[in-house]
Amino acid sequence: MATVKHKILVLSGKGGVGKSTFSAQLAFALAAKDFQVGLLDIDICGPSIPKMLGLEGQDIHQSNLGWSPVYVESNLGVMSIGFMLPNPDEAVIWRGPRKNGLIKQFLKDVYWGELDFLVVDAPPGTSDEHISIVQFLQATGIDGAIIVTTPQQVSLIDVRKEVSFCKKVGVPVLGVVENMSGLCQPLKDFRFLRMTETGEHTDLTEKVIEYMKEKAPEMLDLIAASEIFDSSGGGAAKMCTEMGVPFLGKVPLDPQLCKAAEEGKSCFSEQKCSISAPALKSIVEKL
Ligand code: ADP
Repeated sequence: MATVKHKILVLSGKGGVGKSTFSAQLAFALAAKDFQVGLLDIDICGPSIPKMLGLEGQDIHQSNLGWSPVYVESNLGVMSIGFMLPNPDEAVIWRGPRKNGLIKQFLKDVYWGELDFLVVDAPPGTSDEHISIVQFLQATGIDGAIIVTTPQQVSLIDVRKEVSFCKKVGVPVLGVVENMSGLCQPLKDFRFLRMTETGEHTDLTEKVIEYMKEKAPEMLDLIAASEIFDSSGGGAAKMCTEMGVPFLGKVPLDPQLCKAAEEGKSCFSEQKCSISAPALKSIVEKL
């Protein structure tokens, strides 16, 4: 860890809000800027980083310096509990001490070499595992934490707890990311349905697309946006003002980002970047 210049912890109050997706894309974005980057997945019960980086089924190797990360590119190394599970369908049912032991080993025994950035994808919530992680990272210096949330109150309530956890343990909050902040998708990728009261539907997509092509082809290039989650309470931005922490930005629900995560790819590398890529890029610029 002494050879790691910057350490960033990625946290969330709840699971499923996009913490690992954000961690993966943050690592890709930093690597694309030619930094030497490490991504450490210590989400012991739900390690999704191997899949999100296209590294499923890879093994880690031990050298005399420690465990070697698995490399996506020469400047992007990854370490995950997922590499150590014999069967990806296996549940990790470990009690606290064993989990904490493994976390410490992961933080201590991986040989990263010289790194500009280490992105640490932590488990959701605030548990004693988080205290272990923070204590270890603090011993060699930690830049701070990024907290990922969705816009709804149910998620934001837990984010407040994350912010207060960071304040209590002395980890600076680098900022909060509001993920899944509305849906953004090209109009031409929508399906158009006529629904009956009983829930049956007729798919009119082809007809609607034909009609648009004929009458207003420029409409097909429009991006349709829709607020899915209730953000009437002001969302993460308002919470950040109230709690005195930086708001880093909003990332929409974007089917292309979901696809990139499923395929283990960077959402920036495709010839045509995904709709969420500019939002993610501007967040990375703020760090
Ligand atoms: P967490 O790490 O918080 O449990 P994940 O990163 O595993 O959450 O995300 C859960 C699912 O949601 C994944 O399938 C992921 O690809 C998808 N996802 C996350 N953020 C977005 C987004 N902005 N747009 C589309 N899909 C997303």
